[in-house]
Amino acid sequence: MHLDSRLAQIGTRKDEGTGAVSYPVYHATAYRHPALGESTGYDYARTANPTRDVLEEAIAALEGGDAGFACSSGMAAIQTVMGLFSRGDHLVVSLDLYGGTYRLFEQVLARYGLSFSYVDMRDLSAVRRAIRPQTKALFVETPTNPLLQVADLRALAAAARRHGLILIVDNTLMTPYLQRPLALGADIVIHSATKYLGGHNDVLAGLIVTKGEELTEKMRFLHNSIGAVLAPQDAWLLMRGMKTLALRMERHQSNAEALAGALAEHPLVEQVFYPAFDPEAAAVQSSQAAGFGGMISFRVKDAGLVAPFLRSLRLISFAESLGGVESLITYPATQTHADLPEERRRSMGICDRLLRLSVGIEHPKDLIEDVNQALARAERIVRGGGTGGVRNPASSQRQ
Ligand SMILES: *Cc1c(COP(=O)(O)O)cnc(C)c1O
Repeated sequence: MHLDSRLAQIGTRKDEGTGAVSYPVYHATAYRHPALGESTGYDYARTANPTRDVLEEAIAALEGGDAGFACSSGMAAIQTVMGLFSRGDHLVVSLDLYGGTYRLFEQVLARYGLSFSYVDMRDLSAVRRAIRPQTKALFVETPTNPLLQVADLRALAAAARRHGLILIVDNTLMTPYLQRPLALGADIVIHSATKYLGGHNDVLAGLIVTKGEELTEKMRFLHNSIGAVLAPQDAWLLMRGMKTLALRMERHQSNAEALAGALAEHPLVEQVFYPAFDPEAAAVQSSQAAGFGGMISFRVKDAGLVAPFLRSLRLISFAESLGGVESLITYPATQTHADLPEERRRSMGICDRLLRLSVGIEHPKDLIEDVNQALARAERIVRGGGTGGVRNPASSQRQ
């Protein structure tokens, strides 16, 4: 069955007793046992919940894995997966990593004796050089956020196999509609389902999908033992969002392409980051994914433009997330990537002129018009020597 059909039909044939097309929300935390030693399959809601089960089965099927695990946030999903590792273990991780993941690794898990090397995953020889005897896994984001660098998942899977490592892929930016890492050789997929899968900026959730019996059993144990599971109402809300994922991703993509093209021609924009614009990235992306996604980043020519530009936007919201139907713009230097040391941030290219846009599903002409009018207004303000009454965007607004 095609993914579009699977998505639209999530949960439709699961409530056999009533035939309910939208699967009900089971709030019960306790389930009566028929007799001693017997179970309906449900005992206690942390371990399993019927509503969460439908979501977990759906994401496992969509990603082509053996089991899915729904967590209370993307960070909870990452923390749960990291429960696989023990003191002394080492992981090789994408350099241009989601800021919250970097913070979890360096400020929390490092205290538990795990260590991490951050490597540009496009450079396979650098990846190989970073692997040590203690290395247990590669943790990869592709495309990365905010620079939209593309790593070759098949090549990384081959390197992981050769060295006996687990390949973990954070597939938040692509979703299974565009990219299925397990089919390319990955062992575990993670999602911040708060983003495209939920799609409406109204539910916080994380998902894990595993492949292989041993990893699946370990993850089942960790998911229940750590307990950062998704609540039933949120599982239902997430499934409702996922039903329209195919339509939304198509529109996110076509809008992103239109906006990236317009930005690339704008005299106040120095550079646009969008995988389709870089021939090397585009070739790898086309070999492993069904599209370029809905994220773009761009660098304006003058840092002074940032604050008045953000202030002047009328349609696009200056807000910190991605993947929803509404277009959002963020300023990575002080928001999503505030927890990276400044030197690291700059050396990676996350400078104070970089903006990241999560392109929504509005009309593309309205989006282009909004960016154009805000850039024009920002230029007038900068030329006039004022800041337009804008506070310094560097006032800390971290996630
Ligand atoms: C948002 C995000 C996370 C964290 O997910 P939450 O749902 O916010 O906890 C992890 N990885 C990526 C790529 C993200 O964008």
